[in-house]
Amino acid sequence: MTVLIAGGGIAGLSLGLTLHQLGVPFRIFEATKEIKPMGVGINIQPNAVRELFDMGLESALDEIGVRTRQYGFYTKLGKTIWEEPRGTWAGYAWPQYSIHRGKLQMLLYHTLLERAGPDCVQTGARAVAFENTGSGAVLHLEQGRVEGGLIVAADGIHSAIRSQMYPQEGPPIWGGAVLWRATSIAKPFFGGGAMALIGHDTQRLVAYPISNPDPETGKVVMNWIAELRIDPSEGWKKEDWNRAADKADFRPQFEHWRFDWLDVAELIDSAEQVFEYPMVDRDPLDRWTEGNVTLMGDAAHPTYPVGSNGASQAIIDARVIGAKLVEHGVNAKALEAYEADVRPVTTGVGLANRGSGPDAILQRVEDLCGGDFGVIEEVISKQDLAAHSARYKSIAGFSIDELNAKPPLIETEAKVV
Ligand SMILES: Cc1cc2nc3c(=O)[nH]c(=O)nc-3n(C[C@H](O)[C@H](O)[C@H](O)COP(=O)(O)OP(=O)(O)OC[C@H]3O[C@@H](n4cnc5c(N)ncnc54)[C@H](O)[C@@H]3O)c2cc1C
Repeated sequence: MTVLIAGGGIAGLSLGLTLHQLGVPFRIFEATKEIKPMGVGINIQPNAVRELFDMGLESALDEIGVRTRQYGFYTKLGKTIWEEPRGTWAGYAWPQYSIHRGKLQMLLYHTLLERAGPDCVQTGARAVAFENTGSGAVLHLEQGRVEGGLIVAADGIHSAIRSQMYPQEGPPIWGGAVLWRATSIAKPFFGGGAMALIGHDTQRLVAYPISNPDPETGKVVMNWIAELRIDPSEGWKKEDWNRAADKADFRPQFEHWRFDWLDVAELIDSAEQVFEYPMVDRDPLDRWTEGNVTLMGDAAHPTYPVGSNGASQAIIDARVIGAKLVEHGVNAKALEAYEADVRPVTTGVGLANRGSGPDAILQRVEDLCGGDFGVIEEVISKQDLAAHSARYKSIAGFSIDELNAKPPLIETEAKVV
């Protein structure tokens, strides 16, 4: 019973590695002609890092990513609202990584080809439709049809499989903000390995290093995302992760964001290339599984990239699918069981990211004091800040104690029989 996977992004490749580990035959069909290292920085949370370690990728991750040490919120004047340790510094048994998306995708891709052979991923193969048969499913590609036992759609926010399941759904929903994403060579702040979320709802900047310091210059590759809310009547350009942008569209608003720990204007000036992306997501679905076909990753639960959980959740999806195949065999029951476990979590995360996501605290402080204070306790108590932070971790499934106490999703020797 071969599992047919549409899409070779983080989700599809993680599933490929998991199925290879479990001895389940699979094939991945990726639309692009060649898998290339696209994108900029992403964060992999400890719950997903645990899974990557279980897939044997620990030392490889240390070569391409940075162990994130600290996470903090700052006002538009550069004042500290809240800082907390991350990964192993916070007490997790696994680190958090800040990493280049393309490097992670290439790591998964090359590891998969080494382990499962070069024929398991077919590039230039775009999925267009699916069909359930009595005992399996047919994946229709632009170039023909393939039969298998199950189909897992990992074909991203524009999933062709999802649009067949939900023909009335239409394009992704725009939340009124635009993101400009880039990397710059810059000095690290707060001792390195630190992630900063600065500003408020209508103007924000997120910055974190995705390389360790250069031994000669001490500088890092700093990933950053500038965000502005714009007049919705102007509409938004069709989203594309690789749309090149003009700095003049957003640079003026950040002219005065020059703090003693980070010069935001200079950071923007020193980037060679900036990508533009509208903040889009989709409404949560009531169902991902139709017979022998299911959705995963962004095809199932695309969310605003504000809580560092898009790629992390894609990896978790792959591992939960694997665990359910071990439990139930390669059949529709396993897909239903995967959906039952994961869909409620991703619905909560998606909705939280639209409103009271982890950075909602920025707007709260902006409303209370315009971002200016002597010490934060004049504005909001530490207990209140700590409760906000703990709430989001719990929604997204990365509470420290819960994660550390959980048994592995897939035991080392597990196989699907
Ligand atoms: C080029 C690119 C750059 C990105 N850059 C960033 C970034 O900088 N920061 C960030 O937070 N997130 C980024 N993302 C999104 C992020 O990777 C996802 O949110 C997350 O990793 C979930 O991964 P996914 O595999 O579900 O989806 P994706 O990463 O979107 O992968 C989907 C894969 O399916 C392929 N595909 C699409 N349609 C079809 C089809 N019909 N048939 C077969 N294959 C198909 C795509 O080419 C892609 O390889 C990017 C995504 C892409 C595709």
